Amino acid sequence: MRVIKKVSEMRLFSRKAKARGKSVGLVPTMGALHEGHLSLVTEARNRCKTVVVSIFVNPSQFGPAEDFKNYPRDLRRDNKLLSDLEVDAVFAPSANEIYEEGFKTWIEVAKLSDVMCGRSRPGHFRGVATIVAKLFNIVEPDMAFFGEKDYQQLAIIKQLTRDLNLPVDVIALPTVREYDGLAMSSRNTYLSPVERKKAVVLYQALCLAKEMFAGGEKDARKIVSRMRSLIHSEPGLKIDYICAVDQQTLQDVDRLKHGTLIAVAAYIGKVRLIDNMSVS
Ligand code: AMP
Repeated sequence: MRVIKKVSEMRLFSRKAKARGKSVGLVPTMGALHEGHLSLVTEARNRCKTVVVSIFVNPSQFGPAEDFKNYPRDLRRDNKLLSDLEVDAVFAPSANEIYEEGFKTWIEVAKLSDVMCGRSRPGHFRGVATIVAKLFNIVEPDMAFFGEKDYQQLAIIKQLTRDLNLPVDVIALPTVREYDGLAMSSRNTYLSPVERKKAVVLYQALCLAKEMFAGGEKDARKIVSRMRSLIHSEPGLKIDYICAVDQQTLQDVDRLKHGTLIAVAAYIGKVRLIDNMSVS
């Protein structure tokens, strides 16, 4: 497995693979890898001849009061996990390599970026859209793999890929969960044992929404209100938002239908967690 730090080297690596007729799959990550990330890598391994995993804690998607400095980083451990999965290359550039002096160009995906997490994390999706477009241009993958765990991010990436005619197939994969249902996240490592136990209520609230829908309830306000009560029954959690939205537009809906997305974001102490499920 090659560990590549330079944009020029990454591009050469991909182009050589493609010149030999090999498809290239890219899995963009910020490292601190867990089973959720590894499920994307395994799928990429199954579908592509050459697999590239990027590990880059992207400064431009963190707000000034967010956890960029403390975000968990362990490149040695990550590299070992990826080499065990027979990844061909890890692209782990420095921030200066990606954002050279004088960097000025940003990608904004209108509307989809303003709702849900966009409300409490202004500029976040501008940073995400820009880094993903840059990674697509550097690695030139045939396919790129993303998790539904970050549903809004996925919707934004699909949109930007379409809008900018980027020749990449965006593949979405389901959320991988802990034994009790909590969605795996690099940020779960911040939780104390007590907070970790409480965190499962987010998953339980999403299950409640699913059950209510299956039982015939279609009124978004009633469902969100029951979810809110359940989460508030656990002291120490602060809800950022709970919403029922159209899967494509991410706009709020009044009435649920098959496929409506229920999403939640909440703080446990200082840790902000997100999760979602669609009803069926
Ligand atoms: P991150 O390192 O958090 O930026 O995530 C990198 C990729 O892994 C994104 O496409 C995420 O959606 C995906 N991912 C993160 N957590 C999970 C999970 N629990 N299940 C599936 N995919 C995930």
